[in-house]
Amino acid sequence: LAGSDAQWDKAPCRFCGTGCHVQVGVQEGRVVAVAGDRNAEVNKGLLCVKGYHVGAALYGKDRLTKPLLRVGKTDKYEEISWDKAIDVIADRIEEAPERFAFYGSGQWTIPEGYAAQKFMKGGLANNHIDPNARLCMASAVTGFLATYGVDEPAGCYDDLDACDVLIMWGNNPAEMHPVLFSRVIDRRSKGEKVTLIDIGTRRTRTTDACQHYLEMKGHGDVAIANGIAHLLIKNGTYDKKFVESFCNFKAPDNDNPNLHGKAITFDEFKAALEPYTPEHVEELSGVPADQIRMLGDLFGNPELKITSLWCMGMNQHTLGTAINAMVHGVHLLSGHFGPPGNAPTSLTGQPSACGTVREVGTLAHALPGGRVVANAEHRQQAEDFWNVTPGRISETPGYHTVQMWESFCTPTDDGGDIGTIWVQVTNPGQTLPNLNKLFNPKAKLDDKFLIVSDVYPTATTRLADLILPSAMWVEKNGVVGNSERRTQQWFKMVDPPGDARDDCWQTLAVAHRLFERGMDGMKDRDGRFLFEVKDDQGKPIPVWNWENYYDTNVDQHLFDEYRKFSRLKHKDLAPYDAYVKARGMRWPVVEQNGKWLETKFRFSGGYDPYVAEGKDIQFYHSSTKDDRAQIWFHPWEPPAEVPDDEYPFMLCTGRVLEHWHTGSMTRRIPELSRAMPSAYIEMNAEDAAAANLSNGDKVKVESRRGTLEIQVWIDGRGRPPRGTVFIPFFDETLLVNDLTLDAIDPFSKQPDYKKSAVRIRKV
Ligand code: SF4
Repeated sequence: LAGSDAQWDKAPCRFCGTGCHVQVGVQEGRVVAVAGDRNAEVNKGLLCVKGYHVGAALYGKDRLTKPLLRVGKTDKYEEISWDKAIDVIADRIEEAPERFAFYGSGQWTIPEGYAAQKFMKGGLANNHIDPNARLCMASAVTGFLATYGVDEPAGCYDDLDACDVLIMWGNNPAEMHPVLFSRVIDRRSKGEKVTLIDIGTRRTRTTDACQHYLEMKGHGDVAIANGIAHLLIKNGTYDKKFVESFCNFKAPDNDNPNLHGKAITFDEFKAALEPYTPEHVEELSGVPADQIRMLGDLFGNPELKITSLWCMGMNQHTLGTAINAMVHGVHLLSGHFGPPGNAPTSLTGQPSACGTVREVGTLAHALPGGRVVANAEHRQQAEDFWNVTPGRISETPGYHTVQMWESFCTPTDDGGDIGTIWVQVTNPGQTLPNLNKLFNPKAKLDDKFLIVSDVYPTATTRLADLILPSAMWVEKNGVVGNSERRTQQWFKMVDPPGDARDDCWQTLAVAHRLFERGMDGMKDRDGRFLFEVKDDQGKPIPVWNWENYYDTNVDQHLFDEYRKFSRLKHKDLAPYDAYVKARGMRWPVVEQNGKWLETKFRFSGGYDPYVAEGKDIQFYHSSTKDDRAQIWFHPWEPPAEVPDDEYPFMLCTGRVLEHWHTGSMTRRIPELSRAMPSAYIEMNAEDAAAANLSNGDKVKVESRRGTLEIQVWIDGRGRPPRGTVFIPFFDETLLVNDLTLDAIDPFSKQPDYKKSAVRIRKV
């Protein structure tokens, strides 16, 4: 533990999208202690078991410290200099800039993601950049856009302190966002009355703390949302005044499928819901009709404050956009919208899925500040902000994640036009669905080149041609944005090991090498380097040389440049310096009397500075341009794959408390690794007995795409119902994504990891 001479400074936790504030103790150049910040609004001094051990994530024995280049076609690597590594990447890009793709992350800091996307869209005129967040929250984005015309939650964590009812839709916050969940449990332990409802496909630690558990079949959530809307209208308990004042109705446009669908009348909406009686919803979802009526009564009670939370259960779903929009719709229809305590709120899994992916716009169709490449005015705005040649940005959206990897894993002669992918801060060799289609074929494709920047060897580096050692967390400066629109900043506190370098520096160094070679795309309109940074006297500072990287605050320069975009869609950020002083602020942040003020609740009068005076609610980014939100009807549809005689079990994948995502950091923390050493298959006790299986038995799990041998855990951490099984994805030695399906939502392009048909045999 830290001695008396330790230096303490602030940082957000490195792991999940909750964004807990930690105090980091540094002594003799090492992180020696971490504590929850007692003054922090997000976590009030608490951390979960991952957060308490976050400092140890820096000190695994096998940190990557040197650039490594594959020797020929062998499995061997040679250490090379950064100079050579940068040349290798520049060569690949120069050879075919249009065949280069960048695959990033919701763990990129805001400046890192901003630099990567400016490099691609404003520099290479190539939109093939997409983040791993496509796999985790793209359907939340499309749900917000379809409903409000603009992304990200209106509510915030304060709703958890004020709600009377908290509904978790396919969500297990007791393990995935434990500090947030503890805020509600804490209220109950103090004697406050708050009703917790878990709507899920298996019993979890969250279920154990809930008064009600509604066990549904896969895709049951769509039927349940329609069932609630049906009852609100049938019973006359919907909020007529709210709906007439602030809402329109929408349905899918089957003749011209698109995110904004077609307008329908209230009567058409009502008629579409007619079949969704509680009894019919029970047939579709498996949830008893009485429990559907209970939900209808709760939403029909205007005295209650209701908050909904969701995460991967609703997002990793082939109807992901639909169910996201429908949960917003249930809140709008019932008037359970508006502060504090009434909120439909999606959570993110990564520390900057909101900040870097959604706000910076690192998705293949997006530009910073909620803009899109397909819109000529948006492109022109970005070209002006970046001072690049008019027409530089391509109007064609790049490949989304599944398309990008499918193209990369297809031989060039057969149309696989992506030839090189640079991966930063993520592990697609473990997280892509259907790995035998979307990742593993790379092993046999000599014409394809994979570059991976990471801190440890991973399931992705096993197929890399060039491995680059990265700095992480407090080894570099950073700014991130959490699930409640809160932007947080921290400074570098310790040096990275060996030759490990910031991801942002890596991108800038390659950009500058291309500039030196004369590539036009790396110049602005005045012929200067695209990422030029000047000192106080206006003299350029060569930030692409590592020795100079911290002479000026590159993060600050990029952040302040990016900040201009944030004002285009009322997501205003404060200047960098304001975040240095604050423990984070929720956007829009506006200046008043020399102070920077955050916004807790969007679209609500008295809270949101962009709501016109005298209005209670104003959806000022309405896609129908009338300040109204859209309430959607979507019909229930079955999952893309359902169990049958050949593959009789439904497989769901997910996370566990002890490990963060692919475990590449947490499995190197001894305490966490000991607590949860390896993956397992959770089985229902009756299913196990029927197959003569006991705890610890090894089984072969087979899908139409792959096989996995793994140990059985009966009624273990979670308890799946009969006919379903669960396998966590944190273990790189037991890759569950060999089994999963790559079916995607048509609008968000997000895969469904929760519903793959499998069969199980004792080994
Ligand atoms: Fe907080 Fe998430 Fe970190 Fe746990 S992992 S301490 S909940 S930010």
